[in-house]
Amino acid sequence: MIKHRYMKLFGVKPGKKIQLKDYDSGWNQIEELKKLDKNNLKERANVILEQNLHDLTQVQQLLYADDRYSVLIVFQAMDAAGKDGTIKHVMRGVNPQGCQVFSFKRPSVEELDHNFLWRFMKSLPERGRIGIFNRSYYEDVLVVKVHPELLQNLPDGKRDKSFWAARYEDINAFEHHLERNGTVILKFFLNVSKEEQKKRFMERLDRPEKNWKFSAPDLAEREHWDDYMDAYEDAVNATSTEWAPWHIIPADNKWVMRVVVADIIASTLSNLDLRFPEVTEERLKMLDEARKKLEEEK
Ligand code: AMP
Ligand code: MG
Repeated sequence: MIKHRYMKLFGVKPGKKIQLKDYDSGWNQIEELKKLDKNNLKERANVILEQNLHDLTQVQQLLYADDRYSVLIVFQAMDAAGKDGTIKHVMRGVNPQGCQVFSFKRPSVEELDHNFLWRFMKSLPERGRIGIFNRSYYEDVLVVKVHPELLQNLPDGKRDKSFWAARYEDINAFEHHLERNGTVILKFFLNVSKEEQKKRFMERLDRPEKNWKFSAPDLAEREHWDDYMDAYEDAVNATSTEWAPWHIIPADNKWVMRVVVADIIASTLSNLDLRFPEVTEERLKMLDEARKKLEEEK
């Protein structure tokens, strides 16, 4: 059975130092998958995906009724890795009232005048709900690390290694605080290769219906690919914790990415001790009286 194995395969163990170059962005890295041919595999992946989406729908209702946990799902990736599509596909069975997606762009002047976590705190999921961050506070140790001129006005001090180490520490503390107060945190790095990104950019240029997606700044960021990979590697190594683990997801094939992400979310939520609130004696009595009242109506 492939299902429910992905968490271990793609999760970054806290304390373990990973190197991104060891992570294949393609599909044929999983023993069970290698045995099947690609078409077979795609079909199987779709079956598993549908099963997971079904599980997710059920468990989300329970999450809502239980009303003790919230779930924060963070997506980070290079441009064109497929964050938007993954969010769309994986959450398609979920009740929209129980789920919120926030996309974070360049911070506004007001946001820059606050500490870097401020704008994210305001968008955290309420109890019983799933919150998705399409980009997140991790941008403040990724794009901002690659382009330090983007840093907000801060007191003088060296912007050296210790500066970034302090930011990782702040992020870990922030996430720990959330976890201790009932937030389940899952973080996904959609690991697309540089070649695949080129292919997808080309598609955006070649296909008229995709032209709108092409962004010149994305192309400029591509030139900093290696710096981004270093920043991702450092961030993942410093912030994959027991309470907020990172997962590195192969992203060159969208169908692989979707099934793996859905599986990890569904498995994680299914493992929570969720329950429908107990009906008290008092409430049972009230329900009984309500029934009588309705029955007596003419
Ligand atoms: P997109 O998700 O493609 O719409 O792009 C959003 C852009 O906002 C990306 O280029 C991010 O790098 C950028 N962005 C997000 N957070 C920050 C930040 N804290 N500082 C600067 N740029 C950011
Ligand atoms: Mg973009």
